[in-house]
Amino acid sequence: CGVFGVVGVADASNFVALGLHALQHRGQEAGGIVSYDPAAGFQSARRFGYVRDNFTSQSVMETLPGELAIGHVRYSTSGAKGQTAIRDVQPFFGEFAMGGAAIAHNGNITNAVALRRELIERGSIFQSSSDSECIIHLMARSLQQNIPERMEDALRRVEGAFSIVAMTRTKLIGVRDPLGVRPLVLGKIGDGWALSSETCALDIIGAEFVREIKPGEMVVITADGVASHFPFRAQPSRFCIFEHVYFSRPDSILGGRSVYETREAIGRELAKESPVDADLVCPVPDSGTPAAIGFSLESGIPYAMGIIRNQYMGRTFIEPTEQIRNMGVRLKLNVNRALIKGKRVILVDDSVVRGTTSRKIKEMILDAGAAEVHFRIASPPTAWPCFYGVDTPQREKLLAATMSEEEMREHLQVDSLKFISLDGLYRAVGEAEGRNKKCPQYCDACFSGEYPVIPSDQVTQGFEM
Ligand code: 5GP
Ligand code: SF4
Ligand code: MG
Repeated sequence: CGVFGVVGVADASNFVALGLHALQHRGQEAGGIVSYDPAAGFQSARRFGYVRDNFTSQSVMETLPGELAIGHVRYSTSGAKGQTAIRDVQPFFGEFAMGGAAIAHNGNITNAVALRRELIERGSIFQSSSDSECIIHLMARSLQQNIPERMEDALRRVEGAFSIVAMTRTKLIGVRDPLGVRPLVLGKIGDGWALSSETCALDIIGAEFVREIKPGEMVVITADGVASHFPFRAQPSRFCIFEHVYFSRPDSILGGRSVYETREAIGRELAKESPVDADLVCPVPDSGTPAAIGFSLESGIPYAMGIIRNQYMGRTFIEPTEQIRNMGVRLKLNVNRALIKGKRVILVDDSVVRGTTSRKIKEMILDAGAAEVHFRIASPPTAWPCFYGVDTPQREKLLAATMSEEEMREHLQVDSLKFISLDGLYRAVGEAEGRNKKCPQYCDACFSGEYPVIPSDQVTQGFEM
């Protein structure tokens, strides 16, 4: 998901709509905005579909007045799968003794099932099926006298990944979980401030990137300034390494470097680790593009757009049902036949999950008359599900959970298949010494199976780590 918030500028909700539009790649199912204005009070609009289709009309935006607003774009990783209900669309709102608060959450709460059961037993009335709603109910039960402290209380009971943007009548609040699994950044716009999942959304509103919110940090922002606290026990950070590989937009800055440069470095590393004699390097667009450019630069094999993407389709993986996902590949990608015929082609993609995309693409490339097909993948084999906010399927559906690299090559029927090594990936994201095995610098659980936070609801339901 993507979260965004603004305080201290007129018509804040318009900036939030623009910010969410720049974060649309993080969630396409639905979006919502909450605003506050002293005369109008809290107002909200929650809609299915793209930001551009819902939050651009004057009739919607004029219902969201004020100098303080937050928003969310949703991609379901918890709650009812398949058909998102409007009641699951964030931001969520709660009315407390000291006033209202709205919150937007990116990440996944790994003890939400247990918390929900406990809260319901004690009388909470849940409105949605979302894990994030627990935070509102925990806040309602806190005895603290102000909303930021109630939020701290609530979040100390929550396990898992959270980057949160929240608001009261006067404050914009940002929080990252102690491991800092999901991103969150601070920006300055005129006399006001912005919080965003990624820097690309600061660019769109002309805000200046100030800094990343630190793992375990809570910032409470008014038009007067930013107050920072660290309410959780300090721990070594474990940012999601897959944000570098796939999730974040290439024009965002992560850890002081553009995601594009990191992906190019991943492609170079891949070319060093797994070279192959071929005529063309083609990306699987768009997610494989920067890595393919890196692979081409390192290997000296020409880069070509052998597959053309229809720009009007969303990200395949994010479509919630298998059937739509299966169709998705052909609706979205087409082979540039004239380029491919008779050529030995290296295809670079970011990841192999179920293997459906790779299989379809291989068929399309061979149909077009390619002489050889070599897959090079910019992440290690995805053998474990993510429980921290990326929607990987159950373990059984992951190709790498049941097959070796050679078995996957046979299954995909390609001439060769190579994944970047975990150490190679760490080097490419800037860790010269590779992965620190005792204390890995990132979360890489979907590749290593080493979960930095025990997914306790999953374990209760029989998941074997
Ligand atoms: P597959 O067809 O192997 O199941 O899907 C892999 C493709 O889905 C990759 O090319 C990747 O670009 C895309 N994708 C979209 N969303 C995600 C995600 O959340 N996780 C992963 N690993 N891949 C995703
Ligand atoms: Fe990111 Fe993978 Fe960790 Fe999930 S399991 S947070 S996708 S590195
Ligand atoms: Mg892809």
